[in-house]
Amino acid sequence: MLLFNTCNSFSSFSKTATCPYCKSNDYQLVNNSRFLRFAIMPIVPLAWHYYYQCNHCQHSEPVPLIKLPLPELLSLIKYFTGSILIVFTLLYFYTQFSAQAAQQQAMLDAPQAYDTYLVKADKFAQEPLRPENLKVAQILEFDDKYITFQISNYRYKRNRGITMAMRTSLLVQRDYFSSKTLTLPRTEVQRMVDEGIIYNVLRPYAYSLYGGFVMFPPRPKPLYEGVKLNKHNQQGINYYKDDLFEDALASFLLAAEEGSQWGQLNTAQMYRDGEGVEKNLAQAIYWYQQAAKQNNHKAKVQLKELCLMHPCE
Ligand SMILES: [Zn+2]
Repeated sequence: MLLFNTCNSFSSFSKTATCPYCKSNDYQLVNNSRFLRFAIMPIVPLAWHYYYQCNHCQHSEPVPLIKLPLPELLSLIKYFTGSILIVFTLLYFYTQFSAQAAQQQAMLDAPQAYDTYLVKADKFAQEPLRPENLKVAQILEFDDKYITFQISNYRYKRNRGITMAMRTSLLVQRDYFSSKTLTLPRTEVQRMVDEGIIYNVLRPYAYSLYGGFVMFPPRPKPLYEGVKLNKHNQQGINYYKDDLFEDALASFLLAAEEGSQWGQLNTAQMYRDGEGVEKNLAQAIYWYQQAAKQNNHKAKVQLKELCLMHPCE
C-alpha cells in the first residue's frame, strides 16, 4: 500500500458554464491539482492545475487560482490538512518539552530529599563503562553548595529497566542503594545535567514514581514519645560511668528536680548506696517515692525492698 503519493482531485464545486467556443452548456471547472498525501489525508499541494473544459468540443482553458470561485478558493485549505496537523503536533511536543525542561530546572534549583536522578554511571560515579551504564541516584541531603546522593547498586542497560524497578518498588528494598554516598558540588550537578550525564530528574509524588514506592513515607511524629531522655540525667550517667559520683549525683539531682523519673530513681539509688554523698535513706525513700508516683516500676520495686529493711515513714 502506498502511503505517500500524489493524486488528482476533482473540484467539489465544479461549476457549469457556457463554452465560449461552441456555446455548449457542458463547460466545467476541473481540478487536476497534485498533492502529496498520507493515506487519504492531503499533506501539501504540489502543483495547482485548475481549468475549464468543454465536454462537447474538448476546448480547455486554465484558470489562475485567484480567478477561482470563492468557495473553491476557500476550500484550498483542505490540501494543507496534514501540514497543519504536523505543525500543531510539533507545537504540542515543543511546549511539552519546554514545560518539562522548565520543571526539571526548577527541581535542580530547589532540590528536595529523594529527588531521583537517572544517570550515566561511568561519568556520574566514575565507574567503568559497561553496556549496563544507567543507574539511579537519589538525593539524601543538600545545602547551598553540595548535594549528597545515594547510588543504586544495580546497573541498567535501558531506561525501561529503571522504570520497571520503580514501578515494582525495588528502590525501597534493602540494599538497592549502595551505602557509599557521593557528594557533588551543585555546579557540577548542573554541568552534568547540561551534558546529559544526568539524563532525567524526577521528583516522587506521594512517595512514588511510576506507581511504585521510591521512598518510605516520613515517619509520623509519635503522639507519645516514650521515655523522655533528660539531658541532665544522661550527663549524670556519663559521670557515673567515669566514677565521678559527686558530679553524677549533682546531675541526677538537677534531673530529679526537673521532674525526670529516671533522674529521681538515680538520685534515690545514690542516696541509698552512699555514692557521691553520705548514705541517706530518708532522702533515698523520698526520691523513690517521687519516681514511684510517676509509675516508675523499678522505683516501686526498689522502694518496696528498701522498706523491708528500713521503716518507711
Ligand atoms: Zn465547447
